[in-house]
Amino acid sequence: MRLARPLENLIDELMKLPTIGPKTAQRLALYILRAPASDARQLAHAITEAKEKIAPCSNCGYLTDIDPCFLCLDNKRNSSVLCIAEEAADIIAIEKTGFNGRYFVINKDFNIMNDSDLEDLNLDKFKEKLASGIVQEVVLALNPDIEGEILGRYLAGIAGEYNIKVTRLAHGLPVGGDIEFADEITLRRAIEGRHEF
Ligand SMILES: [Zn+2]
Repeated sequence: MRLARPLENLIDELMKLPTIGPKTAQRLALYILRAPASDARQLAHAITEAKEKIAPCSNCGYLTDIDPCFLCLDNKRNSSVLCIAEEAADIIAIEKTGFNGRYFVINKDFNIMNDSDLEDLNLDKFKEKLASGIVQEVVLALNPDIEGEILGRYLAGIAGEYNIKVTRLAHGLPVGGDIEFADEITLRRAIEGRHEF
């Protein structure tokens, strides 16, 4: 069935979003059409404003509308611990745990297959922080996949040049999970990372 062109456009745009398939896009589009005009305008405005005003912090890479970001400006944080994350969304998750150190976000889509991809990463700020003498521990909070593993080893090598201790998040079994169904790598790491009860 042919839809009115503006409606079709809206559905097409919504479908570009992650996890949104054709049915969800159509449902969202129809919802937006039924909503008050002011709501639709606010949604459009929020998208445009975020796109215009948000950029990575020049110091840590977190997404911010002020530079440096509020995390960098917070002088109650422990500057001796530097947590490395792949993207800003990871920091939002880590912040919820109460972690109180500093951050450095890599901000790159990873498809690391060879050394030149690693050399393309902009790590000047990272090295600057390591050279400052303030950082005593680098915590690698990278995704537990092949890219995270390669990147982790690379970053650990750099931190090693500055004689800085490198730790990484423990990999374990998900709460509510079932040992029987855990994959082999997860289970092996959970056994390696066991601690006293
Ligand atoms: Zn920052």
